[in-house]
Amino acid sequence: MTFEPTLDFARRLDAQDPLREFRQHFLIPPAPNGSRDSLYFCGNSLGLQPRTARAAVERQMQNWQELAVEGHFKGETPWMHFHQRLQDASAQVVGAKPVEVVVMNNLTTNLHLLLVSFYQPTATRYKVLMEGGAFPSDQYALETQVRMRGLEPDDAIVELTPRPGEHTLRTEDILAKIAELGDSLCTIIMGGINYYTGQVYDMAAITKAGHAVGAMVGFDLAHAAGNIPLQLHDWDVDFACWCSYKYLNSGPGGVSGVFVHERFADQPDLLRLAGWWGYDEQERFKMRKGFRPMRGAAGWQLSNSAILTMAVHEAALAEHMAAGGMPALRRKSEQLTGYLEFLINRLELPKSRLEIITPADPAQRGCQLSLLVHQNGRDLFDHLMEAGVIGDWREPNVIRLAPVPLYNTFEDVFHVGEVLAEWAARQ
Ligand SMILES: *Cc1c(COP(=O)(O)O)cnc(C)c1O
Repeated sequence: MTFEPTLDFARRLDAQDPLREFRQHFLIPPAPNGSRDSLYFCGNSLGLQPRTARAAVERQMQNWQELAVEGHFKGETPWMHFHQRLQDASAQVVGAKPVEVVVMNNLTTNLHLLLVSFYQPTATRYKVLMEGGAFPSDQYALETQVRMRGLEPDDAIVELTPRPGEHTLRTEDILAKIAELGDSLCTIIMGGINYYTGQVYDMAAITKAGHAVGAMVGFDLAHAAGNIPLQLHDWDVDFACWCSYKYLNSGPGGVSGVFVHERFADQPDLLRLAGWWGYDEQERFKMRKGFRPMRGAAGWQLSNSAILTMAVHEAALAEHMAAGGMPALRRKSEQLTGYLEFLINRLELPKSRLEIITPADPAQRGCQLSLLVHQNGRDLFDHLMEAGVIGDWREPNVIRLAPVPLYNTFEDVFHVGEVLAEWAARQ
């Protein structure tokens, strides 16, 4: 598509946008001066609230009020089976079979639970491969998982870093490192999208290469779920987890999703940390000794479901499905992010001042663009915030901006381009 840097052009794209009505389904915070909506470009951190979310919570408050303990088995949405209500949509979001997914806990908790099962080091096969500069929580999770097995993080954890002068990883380098580690490689755990650069990793190729050397392969999809098309089952990924509050709009601290490939569905002896909610549902209330897991990902559940946050998640997933799911969102997303990139590339600033470190190839990125600002980065960020553009700042000098296809418009992107141009003109 050939873009034009005019408000007219942006409005034309909005008028043709098949998803244009969805913006009205979300609550957009006002700009600091209160006169209009903010330009919300921070869905990579916390997605906006669906208008239906509040009623979904109130419905469960009502059930609690009227049914109390009976709510586990009675009413339209018995809490005992509530996780099943999220299964089909979650499976679609990540390209899985329903038995391969379950929604429970929070993301870092689930990462730990999955590593208990899928990082089982031996004396010779004990290395974990991850991206350097991964999201801090993932780093801490790995570091402590490794220590828990009596290993030293410096020895057991291998980090991938870009070539000198480059900002993102090359797939060929990732695959070469996997081959080099060979028999010593126990587990690969990477982001599906790196939170800092916005780079999408080639999950299919990484999984294939990992399996070729006998390693388990998993992904943290915090920035990928609801952002890019995923085919976890077909890619043959072993395990994955994601959060629901970024591109899945399910509220601060919202529940997390877990994927465990179907080939592990009937392996009750696969080591895991168990709780009663993962116990075979038919027999759960017999309260017997000896853990017998449910089939599939559900067998990793620990506790009875967090109904209030899961109710929000159900409402939010319904918006994604109503919009046509990932195929429809992705079509718009590529254009929306492409338009932002076009406007940034027109700024009259040399690359030595400001550059986009997110890959230019749409197949290697989602919504987000990461701007590396070599001078006065904080000043640019403050300028954006004062103008009502909500992005986020990542130390030492990156601004992340994510136009989200569910609720952002081409006009939003155009205005962000204007705000950036104002600042560039002053430099
Ligand atoms: C957002 C994010 C988290 C946050 O973890 P919580 O347990 O939900 O607080 C973890 N890992 C990655 C890669 C993230 O992007």
